[in-house]
Amino acid sequence: MSTKPVISIIAPVYNEEPVIDELYRRLSEVMDQIGEPWELIMVNDGSFDGSAEKMRDIVARDERVRTINFARNFGHQNAVTAGMDYARGDVVVIIDADLQDPPEVIADLLKKWREGYHVVYAVRSERKGESVFKRLTAKLFYRLIYRITDVDIPLDTGDFRLMDRQVIDAINTMREHNRFIRGMTSWVGFRQTGVYYVRQERFAGETKYPLKKMIRFALDAITGFSYFPLQVAIYASLVLGLIAVLAVPVVAFLRLATGELVFEGQATTLIVVLLMSSFQFFFFFVMGQYIARIYDEVRRRPLYIVSEVWETASLAGNNADQNR
Ligand code: UDP
Ligand code: MG
Repeated sequence: MSTKPVISIIAPVYNEEPVIDELYRRLSEVMDQIGEPWELIMVNDGSFDGSAEKMRDIVARDERVRTINFARNFGHQNAVTAGMDYARGDVVVIIDADLQDPPEVIADLLKKWREGYHVVYAVRSERKGESVFKRLTAKLFYRLIYRITDVDIPLDTGDFRLMDRQVIDAINTMREHNRFIRGMTSWVGFRQTGVYYVRQERFAGETKYPLKKMIRFALDAITGFSYFPLQVAIYASLVLGLIAVLAVPVVAFLRLATGELVFEGQATTLIVVLLMSSFQFFFFFVMGQYIARIYDEVRRRPLYIVSEVWETASLAGNNADQNR
């Protein structure tokens, strides 16, 4: 690569064959208009459709584009992490490959950066072409995270954002697993601001975030940035203890006054026991979530494995193996 890029664009790609050409076209149009040297890093997160070939073609003809191929699917957040590791620019912009984040917004992000902000995140003022279910769960998710986490994670903000070199270097030192990059960006601090944009419909294809992945992601966000779920147990303990203490004189009094057995029968007992164990198992689950994540940390596995890095020079020299 001849000139050092000022702006690095990172796009995670998982089975996005029908959108890649259009992504490249729209992005390069916008970036050429901005006029600063730029690079595009597409992280191929183990796609098994024709995405790789599409990306290879683009890399072969444009030396500003590189593709980092993962050995398998490591997930969206790890793909973005790899992009951040490989980025060489003074600023980095993370963008979804499916064109839900319009590349034209990058000009607005850069404007704020020039005003002196280190992080400029893009806030969704409106979401187009997504199901009621997706919108509702997303809305709930952002509000829940906002309430229970210890960092101020802005509402309705995805990973579409700009970060300067200082912030990228700081986040790159944080090698935690089960990453929630929005939270990590807020956590590092620096001057941050947002710009509004309308989230577009997917250009083509379907969401790569089924419900199961969404739930996992939400759990990563919560466990990564809050101890609240661990502390909830104390409230359950206090409330149940209080009920028990109050119940003793009430039951005794009723027995003496009326001679009747209150809460007669096995059914009542059975139901109460089931309810209690349901609470207890819930807290096992909560603890399990944290313990599993501790286990992920102690194993110290890498966040992703790269199989190949493609850049124009290496493809032309017919030497595509640049493992790192
Ligand atoms: N993605 C990825 N790995 C995954 C899932 C998704 O790299 O395991 C990419 C995907 O190709 C897209 C971005 O992450 O560029 C956001 O995914 P998607 O658009 O499917 O999510 P949604 O916008 O529906 O929340
Ligand atoms: Mg999308």
